[in-house]
Amino acid sequence: MTEEHSFDAVVLGGGLAGMAAANRLAQSGLRTAVLEQGSEEHYLCNSRYTGGVFHTCLRDIMSDENTLRQAIVDATAGFVTDTLAAVIAADGRRAVRWLQDEGVRFMKADVADHRSWMLAPPVIKAPGLNWPGRGGDVLLRTLEANLVKRGGVLVRNTRGRVLLMEENRCSGVIAQQAELEIRFRARAVVIADGGFPGNPEMIKQYICNQPERLKPRNARTARGDGLQMAIAAGADTIGLNRFYGHVLSRDAMTNDKLWPQPYLDALVTAAIVVDPSGARFVDEGRGGVYAVNAIAQLADSLSAAIIFDLAIWDGPGRNGLVPANPHLPDAGGTLLSAADLPQLARKLGMEPGRLLDTVTRYNNALASGTLASLKPALRTSPQRARPIAVAPFYAAPVCAGITTTMGGIKINEHAQALRVDDTPIAGLYAAGGATGGLEGGPEIGYVGGLVKCGVTALRAAEHIVNSGSNREKTS
Ligand SMILES: Cc1cc2nc3c(=O)[nH]c(=O)nc-3n(C[C@H](O)[C@H](O)[C@H](O)COP(=O)(O)OP(=O)(O)OC[C@H]3O[C@@H](n4cnc5c(N)ncnc54)[C@H](O)[C@@H]3O)c2cc1C
Repeated sequence: MTEEHSFDAVVLGGGLAGMAAANRLAQSGLRTAVLEQGSEEHYLCNSRYTGGVFHTCLRDIMSDENTLRQAIVDATAGFVTDTLAAVIAADGRRAVRWLQDEGVRFMKADVADHRSWMLAPPVIKAPGLNWPGRGGDVLLRTLEANLVKRGGVLVRNTRGRVLLMEENRCSGVIAQQAELEIRFRARAVVIADGGFPGNPEMIKQYICNQPERLKPRNARTARGDGLQMAIAAGADTIGLNRFYGHVLSRDAMTNDKLWPQPYLDALVTAAIVVDPSGARFVDEGRGGVYAVNAIAQLADSLSAAIIFDLAIWDGPGRNGLVPANPHLPDAGGTLLSAADLPQLARKLGMEPGRLLDTVTRYNNALASGTLASLKPALRTSPQRARPIAVAPFYAAPVCAGITTTMGGIKINEHAQALRVDDTPIAGLYAAGGATGGLEGGPEIGYVGGLVKCGVTALRAAEHIVNSGSNREKTS
């Protein structure tokens, strides 16, 4: 059975990107529908799970525009074009202000500069997943209420399947609602389905060989439908092989107290990560997001361990929202300790001489200021890297936690989906985690999931409004 409905615009996915785009469209008088596959009132998505920090490249989102633009270009080694970097830098603050006008509350968190704009109420500082009533959950409820007040609709239990294409432009979506197939006709479609961190087959296709050996640090509801639909409609993709995530205890594979927090990135940057042979394999100085991508590329991504000492455990080990010390062992995560490195190696099933050699080389290079000459080179400041010298010595077996995918549908500065020849596909837009080209690249530059959502949602909606005949109405 097939039904048909008509709207000015249809948005695929009811996370932050989709709900922000829909509200901006409805605010401008467009009849807007959000199709959401989840059927529950508080359907799960990454926006509901989010830590809620709006930052740009881990900097305050309100910082000077040029500083932010340069930070994006530098972090991604030019992978993000100057044009798109400028858009994120300029509109990140606008997105936060717009959300405030929608009634979304922010707070200044206590930790670092980049936490200056965090959704309220904050996530609970405790191990495990704690989303009900927290920032992301409240944000989505607020945006849904606003959409309804503006005459828009959020249609649950409705999964977008195929884009309707007529004369080279997108004219709607075919969606599935239980047994029912529904055609949603519209002059524009915004794909905001969150990317593909919840789709093991696509992770295998684009990121690594053993997706089942990564820990989904996400809601598993973003399954790449939008990307596949866009490709079928002629869209280009970019940067699909990179992901945003954190280094987790290996026990997070089976223990829900160990994800999304605590994560172990502070230990990674202060110490070293080794493979089963006891050798380093990644530049730890580049941080947890970089390291987690390297761990995912190992022949066995469940074989790496962080090696550190008492001074690191009692120093950087206490850093972060939910620090490894004491939450890793308290929540049941494995923390091996030994009076010396050979004993620690034996507990890990490693050849003792090899681990001792790796640590000795690292300590010597740190002392002589030659970390960059190690193999692989360690590019970090001496303040971040610490010697591994004070007994007891520790090992934390780790896994790679995948939070969101960094690549996706290639877009321009209006969030229009682009073809391989960079011409826009009329009527087709992408926002939030569904987009590509806004972070990642060879250096795995992390720009920020939430800022991407806010900026691309506003950009897409405003371009749809401006390219139509509808006059802006105040809401
Ligand atoms: C634990 C955690 C902590 C995080 N912390 C931060 C942080 O502090 N700062 C930061 O910048 N980023 C953070 N992120 C990342 C950020 O939350 C995400 O990048 C962002 O929420 C993605 O929003 P989205 O709207 O693109 O996708 P989502 O929120 O995943 O929403 C996509 C929606 O689309 C729906 N959908 C999927 N396919 C279909 C389909 N075919 N038809 C209909 N509906 C569909 C899904 O059900 C889902 O509701 C965090 C993420 C997680 C998981």
